[in-house]
Amino acid sequence: MLEAIARAFICPLTVAWLLLVLGDFFSTFCYHVPEHVFGSLHLKTHHSAKKTFHHYAILTFNVQVLLDGLLGALPYLLVAVALWSFSPIGVISGLLFGQFHVWWRHVSALGWQTPKPIALLCQVCFITIPEQHWLHHQKTSVGFGDIFTFFEQPARAWMRLLRLLRLYLKYVPV
Ligand SMILES: [Zn+2]
Ligand SMILES: [Zn+2]
Repeated sequence: MLEAIARAFICPLTVAWLLLVLGDFFSTFCYHVPEHVFGSLHLKTHHSAKKTFHHYAILTFNVQVLLDGLLGALPYLLVAVALWSFSPIGVISGLLFGQFHVWWRHVSALGWQTPKPIALLCQVCFITIPEQHWLHHQKTSVGFGDIFTFFEQPARAWMRLLRLLRLYLKYVPV
């Protein structure tokens, strides 16, 4: 009964937005930030300097780049499965927007500059623009939240906490 009511009221747009927010949340906090602290794959592939747009936008057959992309996308796919029954159209739209945003946030590698009105609209909607994501490519401790800028501060705090945990694990025998 409750599920039927929820289904009637949750429109595709809400499902698409939920998918992107939850996907970005889990991707940032369960993969991206922990990978920066404990891993090397993402740093080696996505943060290697002077690569092409195709490399950063995961439009390549490089196995390591694809693996990093897949691990980052996995949370979105799991959320997509969970939300599918509410609105398949919403889920597909959310995934398409997410994919579009992967390409768009890397166009700085092509020399793109976001027009002011679009930058303003994104700022109002808390959407990460290419210039902000490019900061993350240059300095790995800033520019988190692949899609949403409101994950930036919590992600930085999470990174500081995980770095402390890494120190603790290094010096305190478990
Ligand atoms: Zn990137
Ligand atoms: Zn990164």
